This record gives sequence, structure tokens and C-alpha cells, in this order.
Amino acid sequence: MSPAIIILGTGALTTARRIQALYPSAQVYGLAERVAADISYSDFASQLRELYQSNRPVIALCAAGIVIRCLAPLLHSKGAEPPVLAVAEDGSAVVPLLGGLAGVNVLAREIAAALEVAPAITTSGELRFDTCVLNPPSGYVLGDIDQGKRFVSSLLGGETVRIEGAAPWLEQARLPLADDAHLRIRISTDANGSADELLIHPRSVVVLDPPADSQRIHASLAAAGISAHALACLLCPRERMTDNALHGTADSLGVPLRFSDEAALPFEHQRLESENLHLAIAAQPVAIHSLGQPRGRLTVVGLGPGASEFTAPAVKRALQEAEDVLGYETYVTMAGPFRPDQVLHNSDNREELARSRHAFELAASGRRVVVVSSGDPGVFAMAAAVLEALEASSDPHWHAVELHILPGISASLATAAKAGAPLGHDFCMISLSDNLKPWDVIELRLKHATLADLALAFYNPISRARPWQLGRALDVVREQRSPQTVVVLGRDIGRPAEALTVTTLGELRPEQVDMRTMVIIGSSTTRRFAKAGSEVDWVYTPRSYPGA
Ligand code: SAH
Repeated sequence: MSPAIIILGTGALTTARRIQALYPSAQVYGLAERVAADISYSDFASQLRELYQSNRPVIALCAAGIVIRCLAPLLHSKGAEPPVLAVAEDGSAVVPLLGGLAGVNVLAREIAAALEVAPAITTSGELRFDTCVLNPPSGYVLGDIDQGKRFVSSLLGGETVRIEGAAPWLEQARLPLADDAHLRIRISTDANGSADELLIHPRSVVVLDPPADSQRIHASLAAAGISAHALACLLCPRERMTDNALHGTADSLGVPLRFSDEAALPFEHQRLESENLHLAIAAQPVAIHSLGQPRGRLTVVGLGPGASEFTAPAVKRALQEAEDVLGYETYVTMAGPFRPDQVLHNSDNREELARSRHAFELAASGRRVVVVSSGDPGVFAMAAAVLEALEASSDPHWHAVELHILPGISASLATAAKAGAPLGHDFCMISLSDNLKPWDVIELRLKHATLADLALAFYNPISRARPWQLGRALDVVREQRSPQTVVVLGRDIGRPAEALTVTTLGELRPEQVDMRTMVIIGSSTTRRFAKAGSEVDWVYTPRSYPGA
């Protein structure tokens, strides 16, 4: 996962960018109002905890003590532990703090080399042997951590060791090697080792089209004497992509699931069958990216009105995980910043169906795709277009995509909250755009909604191509509603140019409204009163209705 570099002020920015140059997908988090970085945060401790808990490697450019204090409450629950480092603002010290088994010392060495200082490594085994024996590189897994710790203690106590199997990363290490050593490091898929050996498993075993039953898989592996740590992935035909039990099985085994309809595997291997489980065993770790594809994922998200703090955490996570991001350019920009490895596909606002099809093409090929809308994706936005494209498609690969719709705060709700609670009683949302529906239908709906005394939220109220529609809509509403009716105009709500106006139906002029405006017309009961310290009144619609 890409590291998060977190800084408190401008003094650390130069060092942060030097570290970022080392890890181009890393993002610099800066304290809002103090420093403009890639992502801004308002509370250091909660930002740090959030990153730690999402298992991101953290490089904090501040005092080690601050980092320790912030993370201390989380440390006793020993779950996944990402690497955490403290780096001096001026780049003069690099201190690995946590995540010894997640490669913190490797990061510390890399960063220190780039900053031309010595890393403050304190791990005895690492210092003595120049490598962390218990932290093999990706593609390999340590068999048993407790046994590993005893093993390293014995080595530190003066024992010699020999290596059995291919361990290219240990060639550079300064281990006390001896051919007749009784301790050995063995690289093998074997499940069982002796007390004298440290087993490191290459992820070299592919399970072919297994049953969706992790216990059976465990039992069959055990019968074959193969460690579950040696599993590289489960490989299945594409028709099993929507088999939920299969996904559950892969999750509980902790291995990726890949799909391919090719009969041949793209690497040399031996076949083995154990209790009806079919295995392909390679001589080296398997590069799973060369093996078919994962199930693709398409997430349609709503960003909310604008400001990042009104975007749901689930949406932010989807954006972090995205490989491809599609949407109208303004919204894609709003959803950023993105890493250089993320592909942005900007398109015109009117190409919704084409954009949806493109999103499915990408997701069907195994990519993680996000389609962005402003506000809520299901309110006059991309979610319906995406579902329409899916329903019209007979391509089974499109239907096999994992599709999620994540909600956002819609413009009417964001505007209402700014003004008070004008939608506190029954209301209706209506788009005044006659691009996708006849104007007659709009007028009919306006008439009935007005007659029903609903508060009205107008989306797409006016545009250069639709200049007269708002005036006509107001004429319809004015036939039934008094000129004193309270009206709220919200322009660019949640964005820097935010403007809120409270007026009346009698005074409202279409010239006050543009396509970035939300128009809320109150019902007969909507009220306003002075807000202390503000020129704009509070507006609300009481919860109870006359006669109740
Ligand atoms: N999916 C969006 C709506 C898209 S239609 C949502 O749920 O909010 C676009 C219309 O929404 C605009 O013409 C405008 O009327 C309204 N709108 C969108 N963002 C807005 C904002 N930040 N402030 C005020 N109105 C906004």
C-alpha cells in the first residue's frame, strides 16, 4: 500500500517531497491552514490513527514522542501493524518505530539512503545480520513467528545456520553460515518443520477450481503436507466470478482469487492432486498478476456538495482504492488529489451512457473503477445511467462485475441544512431539465406538487440552453402559492464560492439563479426568522401541519 507522509507545517514540506520522490504513489498529508499538501487534515492524532488503522505505512515528519503518544491507545490490540516511522523535519534523522514484520527497517534504510543519513535501526537481528530474517520479501511468508523469534535469539547467541532451498534475498545478508550447522533456514512449501529449522514458505501453490469450502481446502492441503501459507491464489473459471461462497472461502484463507478460462498456466509447475483438490506447484513464488484477472469492481459514488468533509468515509476509501476514475471533469477534480498510478477518464457532462459503458468495460477486465457524481449518485446522476447500461447489456462479464452504489449528500439536503430546515416536512425533488423528459410532464408534476403543498427542491433550474424553463415553472407555482412563500437559493454550497439567499416567491427572479444553484420553494407553512449575527434568516418548515 502507498505510504502516507504526514506533516505539521511548511518546514517539513521539502523533506516530505524528497521522500515522496522515492515512493511516487505516496501522498503528503498537511495540517489544514498551516500547509498546503496533497491532502489536508484538521486533527493530527485522529488522522494518524485513521491511517494506522487502515494499515497504511506512515511516515510522520515530527517528534517520535508525538507519534508514540497518538498511537499508544491502539498498540495493545495487536492486529495488523503497518510500518510507522518518525523522520526529523529537516531530514537529519530516520527512526523506525513500529511494524518490524511489515518491513519498517527496509523503509527506514531506503529513506535514510535518500536523505543521506544513517537510519536509527535498533533491531538486534537486523543490525547483526544486515537483514530482518523474520521479514522475508513479498512472495514469501514466515511459517511461525514465535518459533522465528526463538530462532533469531539462538543465532544472536552464537549458533551457526545453513540455508536449504532458494532464498535469493539472504545472499547479501551477513548470517553466520556453516555447512554443518544444525540450525537451518528452509525455503519450502512443507507444512511441518523440525524444532531446528525456520520455515519460510514461497507463495508458489495455486489451487485450481476448488470447492467453496475453506475447511476442505485446509484438510486436503494438510493431507498433502503443504502449508496454507504457501498458497499464491485460487484460480477459477470466469463463470464462478459471482459465486459469493467462493469469495468467502478466499477471504477466510486470506488468498486472492483469480479468474481465467485458459487451460494452460503461464509458468512451469508440477500438478498434484490431494483428496480431489487440484494443485499447481511452481518452483518459485507465483506472479499472480500474470494469472488471469481478479473480479473487477465498479463503485458509483456521490461526493456530496463539494467540501471533502461532507464526503462519506466509504466514498473516500473507494477513491483511494480506485485504479480508474471516470466522470465529468469538474467532479473528477473535486474527488482528487489522485496518485500518478491512478488513471483519470474525464468526459463531457452529457455522455452518461457512454461513460457507463466505458466503466463496465474497464471493470469487466478486472480493474477497480469509480464513477463520480456530485451530491448523491442516485439523484439526477450516474447511478441510474450505470444500471441502465447494465440492464441493456447481455455481456455476462459486465453482469459479473462487483457493483456498489455509495450515497452522498445531495444538493437539496446540503442547501437545506445551510438555511435551517426548509425540508423539515414533506417535500419533492424535481429536475427542471427537459433534456430527458418532456416539458409537459414537468409542468404537470409542478402543478400537482404545488397543489399538494409540498416544499419543492429544483435541480437543474436553468442553463444557457434552457433559458425560459425556470420562469415558466415559477408561473405554475405562483398560481397556487402566495407571493410571501419563503424561497431559499443555495449557490455552490459546500464550495469556496458558497452563497445562500433567502427571499420570497414574489421577489424571486430567474436572473438570480444559474445552473450551480439549488432553488428551494417553501410550502404554505415554511417560516423564517432573524438569525443572530447574520443577514440571512433561519428558514424551517415545522414538522406538524395545520389540522394534525
Ligand atoms: N447528483 C447531484 C445533482 C446533479 S443535478 C446531487 O445529488 O446533488 C445538478 C444540479 O444540482 C445543479 O444544476 C444544481 O441545481 C444542483 N447542485 C449541485 N451541486 C450543487 C451545489 N454545490 N450547490 C448548489 N446546487 C448544487
